[in-house]
Amino acid sequence: MRAIVWFKKDLRVANNPALYHAAQLCKDGLVAVYLLDYEMWKQHRTASCQIEFIFRGLEELKSSLNELGIPLRILETEKTRDSPRLLAEICKQIGSEKLFFNHELELNEAQRELIVVEALAKKGIQAEIYEDQLILPYRQFYAERKDYFKIFTPFKRHWIKHFLLKENGQLLPKPKVKTIIKMPSSSLPSIPACFRASLELKSWPAGESNAQSKLRHFIKQDLFNYDKQRDFPGLDATSKLSAYLAVGMISAQECFVAALKENQMELDSGNLGALTWMSELIWRDFYRHILIAAPRICMNRAYKPETEKLPWLYDKKLLQAWQEGRTGFPIVDAAMRQLNTTGWMHNRLRMITAMFFSKNLFLDWRLGEQYFTEQLIDLDFASNNGGWQWSASTGTDAVPYFRIFNPRTQSERFDPQGEFIRRFCPELKSLSAKAIHAPYLYASQQAEKAGYPRPIIDYTLSRQRCLAAFKALKIIKALEVYRGE
Ligand SMILES: Cc1cc2nc3c(=O)[nH]c(=O)nc-3n(C[C@H](O)[C@H](O)[C@H](O)COP(=O)(O)OP(=O)(O)OC[C@H]3O[C@@H](n4cnc5c(N)ncnc54)[C@H](O)[C@@H]3O)c2cc1C
Repeated sequence: MRAIVWFKKDLRVANNPALYHAAQLCKDGLVAVYLLDYEMWKQHRTASCQIEFIFRGLEELKSSLNELGIPLRILETEKTRDSPRLLAEICKQIGSEKLFFNHELELNEAQRELIVVEALAKKGIQAEIYEDQLILPYRQFYAERKDYFKIFTPFKRHWIKHFLLKENGQLLPKPKVKTIIKMPSSSLPSIPACFRASLELKSWPAGESNAQSKLRHFIKQDLFNYDKQRDFPGLDATSKLSAYLAVGMISAQECFVAALKENQMELDSGNLGALTWMSELIWRDFYRHILIAAPRICMNRAYKPETEKLPWLYDKKLLQAWQEGRTGFPIVDAAMRQLNTTGWMHNRLRMITAMFFSKNLFLDWRLGEQYFTEQLIDLDFASNNGGWQWSASTGTDAVPYFRIFNPRTQSERFDPQGEFIRRFCPELKSLSAKAIHAPYLYASQQAEKAGYPRPIIDYTLSRQRCLAAFKALKIIKALEVYRGE
């Protein structure tokens, strides 16, 4: 039997269930396919840096697959609805009876799979679908439960209880192909101009081998100090694996297992750095579970429906100042400039900027989520949406609405010397470690001379406005209950 393996957000050969099982089951050879679905990218307004990263990763994927004896065919389409036809054509060309792939969780992507599976079934081609998006397979997690978890801590407890060291702590062996199909691999088309990244992507070398060496470096260098260092953006002490995980150049399971091994296979005791990092990977699983349980979040909906009544603002000037890093709040501005110039932002700063956006500027969090989508090299729908709804207090296990980060105190705490701010806001370079967190409070003339903007909002008033809006929401809800609505 011959088969096609359809690659999507799994641009790797290691620990790739669809590829591994296809190689095991199909004795007469495999052909790999990647579909450049331009419509899907346009529709989602996917960051051009992530698209370029994918293009580069495909080069390495092609050579790793060729080493295994699997040609990679690259198909292009302007219309998602053409996917079944394109895949059926290639199946026919090589006489494939099966299509193997790993399931994607997002709504549009899952719908695309569905139309492909149905159309191919009509032609007698059967789909074999695997799961690689979660560390702990969904069915195993829910074996003895029906309702899903809305809070992270019990989720994590249940997760750890169901993680089996023997099964889930093992990675798949390297796939071995039994017969080689003689077919040339496609050469990679050039990136369409509308998707070309304006960023220099030097610090993001693409591909599986780079992801693996980043993981090894992090485990050796920073894992055991992760709990102490992870919140300080100036330290560069997190793994930066998110870009690779987002497009599947490495699997989350492989990352988790690497940390687990370093922690002597202990899941809930041992080194605190390793445990904290593993916990972050469990957060990734958690947001994927939310996506499966509440797919409405893919349709621009708040996880908590009642928060849709909040009177969010749509002020273009505020939005632009935030996007460009000109809010007059140095930690926010430095973070936004990091995003704009590198395609990535430190986790602590994502929380600060997202909360500032939704709670202080009181702009609709969906606009901020969209901007991150358009800029992030590590864009991952579930984590991005989860992070935004957490910050805006509209999501599951969100921060309580009355907890609003003060950018200045966050800055003093997590960038005490202002190293990070100085890197991205060079106009503030000469300010003292005290003044750099609030230039117009302590060094007004200097800040003005340097051309640094004044704060675009009054922090205290903006906080009060947000609290009042959330309180009004509670009153509306109470009235609805009272009136029996
Ligand atoms: C508003 C907001 C938006 C975000 N958008 C994204 C996004 O589009 N893509 C993305 O991968 N992450 C997103 N995150 C989560 C987190 O900020 C990034 O995963 C992290 O900064 C990536 O850097 P790292 O690889 O060095 O992470 P590390 O600290 O080394 O963590 C290891 C891995 O764990 C996972 N992880 C870590 N923190 C989280 C978290 N809070 N939620 C879910 N997974 C996590 C990531 O896969 C990460 O690569 C967002 C967070 C917020 C608050």
